[in-house]
Amino acid sequence: MNKWAQQVDEIRRLWLYRQPVVYLPLSATIAEQAGKKYLMLASNSYLGLTHHPAVRQAAIEAVQAYGAGSGGARLTTGTHPLYPALEKDLAAFKQREAALVFNTGYMTNVGVISGLARAGDVIFSDAWNHASIIDGCRLARSETVVYQHGDVEDLRQKLQQTPCSGKRFIITDGVFSMDGDIAPLDRIVPLAEEYDACVIVDDAHATGVIGPGGRGTAAYFGLKGRVQVEIGTLSKALAAEGGFAAGDESLIEILANRARSFIFSTALAPATVAAAHAALRQLIAEPEMVDRLRENAIYLRSKLAAAGFTALPGDTPIIPVILGREETALDMARALQERGVIVAAIRPPTVPPGSSRLRLTITAEHRQQDLDKAVVAMQEAWSSLKQGGNGV
Ligand code: PMP
Repeated sequence: MNKWAQQVDEIRRLWLYRQPVVYLPLSATIAEQAGKKYLMLASNSYLGLTHHPAVRQAAIEAVQAYGAGSGGARLTTGTHPLYPALEKDLAAFKQREAALVFNTGYMTNVGVISGLARAGDVIFSDAWNHASIIDGCRLARSETVVYQHGDVEDLRQKLQQTPCSGKRFIITDGVFSMDGDIAPLDRIVPLAEEYDACVIVDDAHATGVIGPGGRGTAAYFGLKGRVQVEIGTLSKALAAEGGFAAGDESLIEILANRARSFIFSTALAPATVAAAHAALRQLIAEPEMVDRLRENAIYLRSKLAAAGFTALPGDTPIIPVILGREETALDMARALQERGVIVAAIRPPTVPPGSSRLRLTITAEHRQQDLDKAVVAMQEAWSSLKQGGNGV
């Protein structure tokens, strides 16, 4: 066996083997695989806008007007007219001076962190931040200090104890991607102000999801203007692909000049930018979608609890049901799929060992009967595993 095959073997032995799976998304809530239709409870398209007629139409028109690809990086020839229009509306939506669109949320985090933090600076990063934040910290030539998840006292101690000759940054997910909990920004921001630290919040799972009209975590806590950089994705509630950073005009100018993931990559296709813009317009026109999403989250969480499943607390649409062992999470996901429901099994290294889980995500487009069906499938899947002696 060659050395690569040995490594693959090792990954399988640890129950950590992964492979992209092909799904045909028929709507925001239904996916097809091998001719069979499934209820989708594993998508981040929180508002279900991926299939909205206006969003699709915007993409079609952009392809016809501007072609398939952008053909250049943003600072060369890739900035077609749809870009400034989207950036202006994103800035207005976030009530900030300016916004800059990147190709993915991942590239936004990597670019913002490594573009802003310099040698001599210190980045204080929540232990459960997304991989793209971790990678951004690794790329930056600054020291990174990891504080315990959501623990403001630990953050305070680390701010006190860490010498810093440059700037301090505090970076956190707004809504944590795997636990669905909300960062305690109401306590982080006053602490940051004490230490003159720049706060960066990654609202990948908060944009279109929490805060008035889905404006994200700073708005949720009424902290507008006190968070220096608000990051978001265009790939989840905004139904397309891409990411953005919003903040003061000069900060955005620094990013356009220093964020390498912005500078050295071909700009998004026009259709993608147009689709994200149409989704943003839809969100602004119909903020009730955000309320519907929250009602669905509360409904599914209460039904799961009534059926005996312990989901982590909260009211966001990320609903983690902790199962512990990797194989239990995988077996449950498989048993659910047999019952027509797609749910993600999340394992290390995405989450800490021993906290493998099902991660249910819902959208504003799910109906209560869909959610009822999911709970029945969960009960049946669990009983079948227990009967099968899977050690659950
Ligand atoms: N930040 C967080 C918190 C995420 O969960 C994700 C994606 N899952 C990203 C950033 C990356 O966003 P994208 O998928 O648009 O690259």
